[in-house]
Amino acid sequence: MIDVSVIIPVYNEEAGLKALFDRLYPALDNLGKSYEIVFINDGSRDRSSSILSEQFNARRDVTRVILLKGNFGQHMAIMAGFEHSRGKMIVTLDADLQNPPEEIGKLLGKMDEGYDYVGSIRKNRQDSLWRSFASRLMNGLRERITRIKMTDQGCMLRAYSRGIIDAINSAREINTFIPALAYTFASNPTEIEVEHEERAAGESKYSLYSLIRLNFDLMTGFSVMPLQVFSLFGILISLLSTLFVVYLAIRRLIVGPEAQGVFTLFGIVFFLIGIIMFGIGLLGEYIGRIYQEVRHRPRYLIETVLEDSK
Ligand code: UDP
Ligand code: MG
Repeated sequence: MIDVSVIIPVYNEEAGLKALFDRLYPALDNLGKSYEIVFINDGSRDRSSSILSEQFNARRDVTRVILLKGNFGQHMAIMAGFEHSRGKMIVTLDADLQNPPEEIGKLLGKMDEGYDYVGSIRKNRQDSLWRSFASRLMNGLRERITRIKMTDQGCMLRAYSRGIIDAINSAREINTFIPALAYTFASNPTEIEVEHEERAAGESKYSLYSLIRLNFDLMTGFSVMPLQVFSLFGILISLLSTLFVVYLAIRRLIVGPEAQGVFTLFGIVFFLIGIIMFGIGLLGEYIGRIYQEVRHRPRYLIETVLEDSK
């Protein structure tokens, strides 16, 4: 059995792939472990897929390439990689060299100490101020809502044991967040600090919109607390309004009818309508996910797998 599988999702990364190969292969050769690298082309529209095929021919011994039929998203691409991985330990890495491949050895060292999940924290993170701020915010929120403890959820350079990957493969989730899903299956997780660099080439594949979607996946995929908070709030409001109605009824009998304070009433009503809309949206987030799960569509479609049959 192979020691290590390195899983790398690739989406429109033609500008940076060469630099990745030049650092990744030597870094792994130096480890003294048997390894395979599984590249997943997530429906790139640039030359990524032909660059990957060339690389497969150059290093057939340790390279496998999965070409997906469309763009299914980073996490589904990684899932495809997991299902085709054969290693005893599995490492995920981004293709953009933001996490140096030389750090893989450190992660594996921790795995050898007996941990089954090695997360990572980006040392002096090289992202825009706004990105760092937003991700600190989301980390804090997630920490409170879910039971998942991750200092830095955005860092994909992580190592998992075979057992965790088998559990993930059997979970068949669609909208998920792999480091968090893996964490829920881990029995002995740990974290280490890793270097972080600026993107070597190309640009980030995540827009603000997809980052927001991703965080909804995290919150709703791993906790029903948003719903519970909402229903608690609903109970509180309805108790208060019951009291208010009783008060109004008594006042009507004693003081008589009145039409003052209409704008205050509007203020309260608009506030409540806002909350109701938020609640409906939140329900929609869950229902949308349920809908996607029950359709049972394939999570990704594979065009070809380039590998040496062994
Ligand atoms: N990626 C992917 N499919 C997508 C978006 C991204 O496979 O739909 C890959 C991308 O090629 C890269 C990794 O996921 O290897 C992380 O993407 P990126 O570096 O753009 O994210 P960021 O570092 O900006 O969060
Ligand atoms: Mg990146």
